[in-house]
Amino acid sequence: MHEMSLAEGVLDLVSEQARAGGYARVTGVWLEIGRLSGVEIEAMRFCFDAVVRGSVAEGASLEIDETPGSAWCLACAASVTIGHRADPCPRCGGWQLRPNGGTEMRVREIEVE
Ligand SMILES: [Zn+2]
Repeated sequence: MHEMSLAEGVLDLVSEQARAGGYARVTGVWLEIGRLSGVEIEAMRFCFDAVVRGSVAEGASLEIDETPGSAWCLACAASVTIGHRADPCPRCGGWQLRPNGGTEMRVREIEVE
């Protein structure tokens, strides 16, 4: 489950930000997860809850926004929206797609006190 190492990465980042700002606790974390990032949202929630135990982010709420996936279709010469990396182009049914959006996960915001 690669979500575990991703969750640890998120925790490192938010702990660092809390420390840099002199905050004692992180109470909320907002994540953006792209549809094409390969990150399972439910697994991410589970792993996040596990890794924050005993940290500055223990008990923090986790808000997840799923961002749409997009890809450049060579045949259509256009950017199209796809829901999954394995999907064909919704316009022409072709497979020559290069993902160009929704491929990442990032921390958008944290709430501290
Ligand atoms: Zn196409």
